[in-house]
Amino acid sequence: MNKHKTSGLTIALSKGRIFEETMPLLKAAGIEAVDDPETSRKLILDTNRDDVKLVIIRATDVPTYVQYGAADLGVTGKDILMEHGGEGLYELLDLNIARCKLMTAGFADKALPEGNLKVATKFVNCTQNYFAKQGRQVEIIKLYGSMELAPIVGLADIIVDVVQTGSTLKANGLVPLEHIATISSRMIVNKASMKMKHEQLKLLLDQVSSAVDLRR
Ligand code: AMP
Repeated sequence: MNKHKTSGLTIALSKGRIFEETMPLLKAAGIEAVDDPETSRKLILDTNRDDVKLVIIRATDVPTYVQYGAADLGVTGKDILMEHGGEGLYELLDLNIARCKLMTAGFADKALPEGNLKVATKFVNCTQNYFAKQGRQVEIIKLYGSMELAPIVGLADIIVDVVQTGSTLKANGLVPLEHIATISSRMIVNKASMKMKHEQLKLLLDQVSSAVDLRR
C-alpha cells in the first residue's frame, strides 16, 4: 500500500450498510469496487482506478485509520466520530446516509431514581457529555452491544443507543425517551492528506457532494 502513499488515495469503509450506501456516491467520482466485501475476505480492495484502494475495517476503527493517515479519507457515523473526538481529521461532508438518532431509552412507566442514574451504553463519551451539560449525575456502564438487555436484567436504569425505527427497543419492552443527537454518515479526511493531496481530494469531495445533493 505504501507505493500509493504520496499520490494515490486510500479510503476506509466498513462493510454492510455504509459500504452499500457509499459506493453509489463514490461512483459519481468515478470510483467502483472490483471486489465485494461480503464475498471477499480481502481487507484491501482494488477499485477500477489504479490510484484508489479501499480498506475494509470496523466502523469504530475508521476515524483511527484516518487520524493516523493509514487512510486518506473514510466514511463513518457521526456517533462514532463524537466518541472518537475528531483529532487529526476534518469532517468535510454529511453524506446523509445511515440516518438514525442517538437516544436515551428505558421503560415507559418506570420512575427513574432521583440520585445516581445508571446508564448502560457503548457511547461513553457522548453519554458523559450529554448528562454533564444537564448537571445530572450518572454512573455509566460500558457495554459493547445488546444494550437493550441492561434495563431488563436490572444492570442499568436506562440505555443510550442509536435508534432508527424503534422496533428493537419495542421488541424488548423499551421506549425512546430523550433525543441526544441526529446521526448520519460523514466523510472524514486526514489533515495532512488534505494539504498534500489537496487537488485530488477536493475534486473527489466536490463530485461526491454533487451526488449527495442530487439524492436529496
Ligand atoms: P431500529 O430497531 O430500527 O430502531 O434499529 C436499532 C438498531 O439498529 C440499533 O440498536 C443499532 O444496532 C442498529 N442501527 C440502526 N441504525 C443504525 C445506524 N445508522 N448506524 C448504526 N447502527 C444502526
